[in-house]
Amino acid sequence: MLRALARVDLGAISSNCALLKRTVGHGTLLCAVVKADGYGHGAVQVAHAALTGGAEWLAVATAAEATELRASEIEVPVLVMGALSDEELQVAVDARADVVAWRHRFVERLGALPGAEGIGVHVKFDTGMGRLGTRDAEEAFGVASEVAASQRLRLVGAMTHFATADDDPGFMRIQLDSFTPWAQTVRDAFGGVLVHAANSAATLCEPASHFDLVRCGVAVYGMDPFQADPAARGLVPALELWSYVAEVKPAAVGDTVGYGRRFVARHATWIATLPIGYADGFRRGLSDNAEVLIAGRRHPLVGTVSMDNITVDLGPAPSEPAGIRGAPAVLLGREGGERILAEDWARRLGTINYEVTCAISPRVPRAYSGNGA
Ligand SMILES: *Cc1c(COP(=O)(O)O)cnc(C)c1O
Repeated sequence: MLRALARVDLGAISSNCALLKRTVGHGTLLCAVVKADGYGHGAVQVAHAALTGGAEWLAVATAAEATELRASEIEVPVLVMGALSDEELQVAVDARADVVAWRHRFVERLGALPGAEGIGVHVKFDTGMGRLGTRDAEEAFGVASEVAASQRLRLVGAMTHFATADDDPGFMRIQLDSFTPWAQTVRDAFGGVLVHAANSAATLCEPASHFDLVRCGVAVYGMDPFQADPAARGLVPALELWSYVAEVKPAAVGDTVGYGRRFVARHATWIATLPIGYADGFRRGLSDNAEVLIAGRRHPLVGTVSMDNITVDLGPAPSEPAGIRGAPAVLLGREGGERILAEDWARRLGTINYEVTCAISPRVPRAYSGNGA
């Protein structure tokens, strides 16, 4: 028994990728996004499982993340989607990763780096996200021309990114309407360019966004991009978070539990302590605002989430509940007929499921099952 354990089902990752491949059909490549250590699931393990499930490409946010994939003998194309300083750009080049460009200066610097021979470049047209990329279609086309004309670099992709694919299809359409003709111009001018735009939400709800490749992250992990029940779309959550009952004791009327004495027993009850806390990613915002499955039953978390412990009200009982000491506890995942989703935490925390799994800290070991793990 471990104080905290994230169990990752790699079979779920593969099956989610297979579902995404079926969604896009032939002629569209699946790029599995494994940035942020695979949304907290473990980038290398997820990458291998995603490739087993039919993904052909991988994407990360940083150059160091690309290096990590290459170190695990991953040879498929890897796209670094994030901004790259000079220092980081050299790391990406050394990892033989593709990079994203939208400025003339960047292409110049890239072309001059040692080892840049043959590096793939994806040109980014900002159609409304307002972060990276250029909003100027002509500038984006110019950068594509420059890469295509370069002796050292390869023009591989033409891309954009949606700001509202998960909650405002109207604005996504506006972005799509500005991207589509631009991408067609690039395609016409330079053969063989991969056009891509869709994240998970767009992949699942807008076939016109699929183009040559889709970049799916959250759905790969079996989480719902629309913050609904992933099962409704056939997605299988890959991650479970476990702890166990390390201590059980009675609380008499008036006894208090935890920092700030936020829990005061109104009636005699039994309190279990689980040795997992906010330093593990069990967010403090879940204080007095979560449930835990123990022996297949839901129990309310009570009191403040500490750095290393949480406390759970097991309810009144004449004596210590039999078998409770040392019992496994499910914080995310299923037990019996019950389940707790990252989407449930997200709703309680006022955030999104992405942040829930990304927050599970390195202090929590990951255990892998499925897919020959
Ligand atoms: C993270 C990211 C994705 C994946 O988004 P999901 O919503 O997790 O599918 C796709 N494209 C870019 C540019 C990203 O940064």
